[in-house]
Amino acid sequence: MKSFIAANWKMNKTIAETREFLRDFIPSVKDVADVDIIIAPPFTSLAAAGEALMGTNVQLASQDMFWEEKGAYTGEVSPAMLLDTGCRHVIIGHSERRQYFHEDDAVINKKIRAAKKAGLGVIFCCGESLEEREADKTFDVIGREIEKGLEGVDAENLVVAYEPIWAIGTGKTASPEQAQEVHAFIRERLRKLYGSAAEDIRILYGGSVTPENVELLMACRDVNGGLVGGASLKPDSFAKLVCYKKEK
Ligand code: PEP
Repeated sequence: MKSFIAANWKMNKTIAETREFLRDFIPSVKDVADVDIIIAPPFTSLAAAGEALMGTNVQLASQDMFWEEKGAYTGEVSPAMLLDTGCRHVIIGHSERRQYFHEDDAVINKKIRAAKKAGLGVIFCCGESLEEREADKTFDVIGREIEKGLEGVDAENLVVAYEPIWAIGTGKTASPEQAQEVHAFIRERLRKLYGSAAEDIRILYGGSVTPENVELLMACRDVNGGLVGGASLKPDSFAKLVCYKKEK
């Protein structure tokens, strides 16, 4: 299976900074053929990034979207608007959206359905908080997020990202064993939903992935890629991460 490594820039980089990053980054990964490389800049940089990425092996994603096609929804961005910028994927259900913008499973499900209907690939995020892990609720939480978030959603163009909230931006990475344990659970849940098609769904790990720890995480059976925040903000760091096989 081709691995999938996505940069989530969150609320970072102006248009000029986006162009500068891509000027350095694109040539450094141009020979990478065995990884789907994705960049998710903020909305304001999507069009500029879309232009810079045209004809390259780097694909564009959005960090969010709204589920309606158009209308009186001040501040929101539709799936068609994303497609217009060259976006091919959208991240949905990130824990920061759930935490700061109160997105619940029902909202996330609506967004996923709308994205897929429009032809966007979905990077669906799930993961437990530290309190939930310590209370032994990791599998309950992730099981619920998958069941509700993916209700009525087919497996085509679907990528799942496991992001333990306690590992996001904290420098605390899940150990390969912890990651594999949850990824195997996610794969099992996906089998229940999609049968044998579940074997082809990429399951990404996210949470303080760096060029130093990526190889051990990627060696886990059910880890098929990464969703990367902090370490994706510098072109050399993200290029090293994407080229982790060559760095050996
Ligand atoms: C993220 O928020 O998607 C993420 C994984 O962030 P970081 O790599 O900085 O932990």
